[in-house]
Amino acid sequence: MMIKLNDKTYVLELMGSGDNACHPTLLMTDGGPALFDAGFDFTHDELVAQMESAGVTVAQLRALFITHHDMDHIGGAKALLQENDQIRVFAHIFEVPFIEGSLPPLKSGPGEPPDPATYAIKVNNTLVDEHVIDIIDCLVIQMLGHTYGHIAYYLRDSKTLICGDSLVAFGGVLQGPRPEFCYDLEVAHEQLSRFLDLNIKTCICYHGGVVQGDIHAELQRVIAAGPGAYPSPARDFA
Ligand SMILES: [Zn+2]
Repeated sequence: MMIKLNDKTYVLELMGSGDNACHPTLLMTDGGPALFDAGFDFTHDELVAQMESAGVTVAQLRALFITHHDMDHIGGAKALLQENDQIRVFAHIFEVPFIEGSLPPLKSGPGEPPDPATYAIKVNNTLVDEHVIDIIDCLVIQMLGHTYGHIAYYLRDSKTLICGDSLVAFGGVLQGPRPEFCYDLEVAHEQLSRFLDLNIKTCICYHGGVVQGDIHAELQRVIAAGPGAYPSPARDFA
């Protein structure tokens, strides 16, 4: 079920509420509504319906912030841009060739990689580590290891971390990155200590949803558990 975190922030929930659920974040900004990650191509209708229940149409959307190029995060982007070409797309500079389709997805699994014509979109704004996106008062944190240019977004005024896949929530408890979906698990784990420098009130995990409470202590527990401590329960995508 979609959660309204505060007047500006909605956490959407696509594909039911189980382990397969995906959680894009919808943020109301001074520049218009912005979406963080876009679900799969086949979750488009669900995404649009949930945005509309938060009072936002695709035509009103002004920005799409991408954490990384896995298809559960960018697969739904092309349809949004076909409906509204005014949406500005933001992503880390290392992810651009994967999002624009000039390199095949890092983790496309067995068989032929998907055809870029079905998912590739143009990135308008490239981000780098510690980039500050003024209009939404957001700090970009490079969290490599899951993909080459995976980033997290820290919303400074609400102390909300949109962590993408750098952390996972399971039963409302934080867990480390899923080993089988990281190209470099050691790096993905090592980078988590960067979050300790932030004052985080709410963590939004794309897989698992919202975690609140003593996030700092939760992070310390996850870091102490070491890389590889949190293999996936039955789930079939990254
Ligand atoms: Zn994912």
